[in-house]
Amino acid sequence: MLTEPQFEHVYIARLEYGVAASKASLILTAALSQQQHRIRRFAFGDILGQADRPISEVLLVTSGLVSMVVDLSDGEQIETAMAGPGVAIGAAAVFGYETWINTAVAQSAGTALSFSVSDISVAARRDTGLQQLLFKSELWLKAQAQQSAACNARHNVRQRVCTWLLLAHDALQEDDLPFTQEFLAHMLGVQRERVSKIAHRLMVDEIVDYRRGHIRIDGSKLEREACECVHVLREHYKRFFA
Ligand SMILES: [Zn+2]
Repeated sequence: MLTEPQFEHVYIARLEYGVAASKASLILTAALSQQQHRIRRFAFGDILGQADRPISEVLLVTSGLVSMVVDLSDGEQIETAMAGPGVAIGAAAVFGYETWINTAVAQSAGTALSFSVSDISVAARRDTGLQQLLFKSELWLKAQAQQSAACNARHNVRQRVCTWLLLAHDALQEDDLPFTQEFLAHMLGVQRERVSKIAHRLMVDEIVDYRRGHIRIDGSKLEREACECVHVLREHYKRFFA
């Protein structure tokens, strides 16, 4: 049974994401003409930007979830931040740095509005609202990377799993998340067996449920298990985009 304050906490975060996403789309579509953007559809695993390669387009995620990952020499990819609806990726190009620092990989199917770097740069010079949105998108990715450094150093894997699921839930605005345990282990840089044990325990405790490659979560119960990072990041998100 969900208690009232917890219910509010989880669902307000989700609502805020939805409102911020609509606001971001409005800012961008008002600043640029219809001919200056196209809708880009992506599937799970699609690479939207490759580390060390030139940024050829700025993308505003409108549905789905994209991870910014660090590519390691053994082929592993570790997530440093996620970008959900309303968050722009590749925005550094507008501020003069036209190279992807991290690889951007789709965590789910979704859509984005795609803009050429030159068009969006011109529009951002005359529209401070757009400029701020792009700058804050970069700050949001940076804030997550910094928080995740502290999180990895101090918080246990169970807490990190719960925090990650909650943040994905805020962005996707669904209780049913399209992730496998293997994917989760991959993103968190944790051994699969460890995540499986935690996932099993969370299932026994009726906090999550697994169905055919999907994780169904109880957001209010997850809140009790997550580390403080989820609250810190939600506060950042609110300050950046609300
Ligand atoms: Zn943490």
